[in-house]
Amino acid sequence: MFDALYLEKTDAGFSATRRSLSLDELANATPDADVAVRLEYSALNYKDALALTNRSPVVRRWPMVPGIDGAGVVEESSHPGFAAGDRVILNGWGVGETHWGCLGQRARLRGDWLVRMPESLDARRAMAIGTAGYTAMLCVMMLERQGVTKEQGEILVTGAAGGVGSVAIALLAKQGFRVVASTGRASEESYLRELGAAEIIDRGTLSAPGKPLQKERWAGVVDAVGSHTLANACAQTRYRGTVAACGLAQGMDLPASVAPFILRGVKLIGVDSVMCPIEDRREAWTRLADRLDRDALERITRVVGLDDALRLAPEMLAGQVRGRTAVDVNR
Ligand code: NDP
Repeated sequence: MFDALYLEKTDAGFSATRRSLSLDELANATPDADVAVRLEYSALNYKDALALTNRSPVVRRWPMVPGIDGAGVVEESSHPGFAAGDRVILNGWGVGETHWGCLGQRARLRGDWLVRMPESLDARRAMAIGTAGYTAMLCVMMLERQGVTKEQGEILVTGAAGGVGSVAIALLAKQGFRVVASTGRASEESYLRELGAAEIIDRGTLSAPGKPLQKERWAGVVDAVGSHTLANACAQTRYRGTVAACGLAQGMDLPASVAPFILRGVKLIGVDSVMCPIEDRREAWTRLADRLDRDALERITRVVGLDDALRLAPEMLAGQVRGRTAVDVNR
């Protein structure tokens, strides 16, 4: 038996509880898996919070063990790439949505989905980074691939005090960029400055409808917020600058005009972590292991237990959780 969070939809409605499940139940729910993993840590991501509260249709198969992120040790494998004892990381691929996930002590996964844990990371630190941190790294890689350099000017990071934003600030500042953090929480100014933000702006300056073209400021943008914030960020991006869009904390809409794209050659690059090809994942994790400052990661991270994840989900959706939340699945 093992402990896991368990989401059900019955005639009585939706429920999210901590349960004791059998390994047979897990095996029956995951017939296409070829690697059994003893998990050590998972994480609470925005998407997990949506699943745990049933706030939007993240879960597409019932019942479900949530948890889009996991890190642990392979117990058994029939996949040629992995053997018992290997340390692995899982992010996305529909795990916790259509395939039983990692907010529990055991998971059965597909070897093709797994990334080998970099030597310098452990399960706790990998899940402190989690999908949010790995997505932040993907955004940084996309800016670089479009040729954004620190000489070209400042980088705007929106949703700054959240998981993606916090890791993006730490990564970009370490690479020498001048980072401007947009937040709704003035109280987090010293946290954001410690991560490396050179300037803090009130997210209210970006979240209302704005003009199609505004004063050029950003060489690059990492946007975790969407909606008017993303539209204004594009309208303020410098000639041929790049905006990496990964999130929708303000909204899924994009009330923008084509003006920044056709008059300033601004590039809007979408960033998806869920189905991202394995080569980009490996590059992202290798760079996170090498370049994300350990002290910064500690400042960003809080570690909680499985029950706490249930309790914190509504707070996360209300934008009240700072940085990253790793989940010790044995707690
Ligand atoms: P968090 O909840 O940790 O952070 C989101 C941040 O957005 C908040 O901390 C807050 O920052 C800001 N925010 C919240 N509500 C609003 C609002 N109404 N208007 C403007 N800003 C707001 O989430 P994550 O950082 O983990 O994820 C951020 C977004 O990225 C989510 O939408 C998530 O779904 C998405 N995402 C997408 C991925 C992909 O593959 N594309 C992968 C991972 C995440 P502050 O308090 O500083 O203002």
